[in-house]
Amino acid sequence: MADIMTPEALKGLIRTVPDFPQPGIQFRDITTLIGDPQGMAASVHHLAEIARAAGAQKIAGMEARGFIFGAAVAVALGIGFIPVRKPGKLPITTIGVDYALEYGTDRLEMDPGAVSEGENVVIVDDLIATGGTATATAQLLRMAGAKVERALFVIDLPDLGGADALRGAGVQVEALMQFDGD
Ligand code: AMP
Repeated sequence: MADIMTPEALKGLIRTVPDFPQPGIQFRDITTLIGDPQGMAASVHHLAEIARAAGAQKIAGMEARGFIFGAAVAVALGIGFIPVRKPGKLPITTIGVDYALEYGTDRLEMDPGAVSEGENVVIVDDLIATGGTATATAQLLRMAGAKVERALFVIDLPDLGGADALRGAGVQVEALMQFDGD
């Protein structure tokens, strides 16, 4: 690729939608980024370079937007992709982790055979907010035997503390861009 868009330029492709899905939430919409061919390619390029330097042997992405970036990064690196799914989607016996939401709980599941013992799995998702999803994903991958030392995001909302929480769980966190506020 000749001129790869910088992370700063990529930030200009994110659409901010106020009060979605609830009043007070600034929704950071990646559909405008992935709809731009150079934006999509550059996002994947930057994430893949970090994952390569981290020695990724597999990429794990969370349903649903983590599939978009995670699968593309896995292809860019020529390694496998692990879908971390919402409950009841996989056609096999799964392992799962329940985690707290602001109201209630949620659950993530994966194929326990998707990882070899000690395999270096890098997590990729579109955005980290409170970090609940990513922390549960790290826990789940570790249950399956993975080494989880790195998680990559297109967007970090640092004011929500998710990246710090994930670092507290022993995972290095990198994001292509940050937005202040929530
Ligand atoms: P969390 O578990 O709080 O880190 O939330 C992570 C997931 O929620 C991400 O995968 C995002 O897809 C979604 N999400 C949370 N907050 C936002 C936001 N302000 N804009 C867009 N997506 C969000």
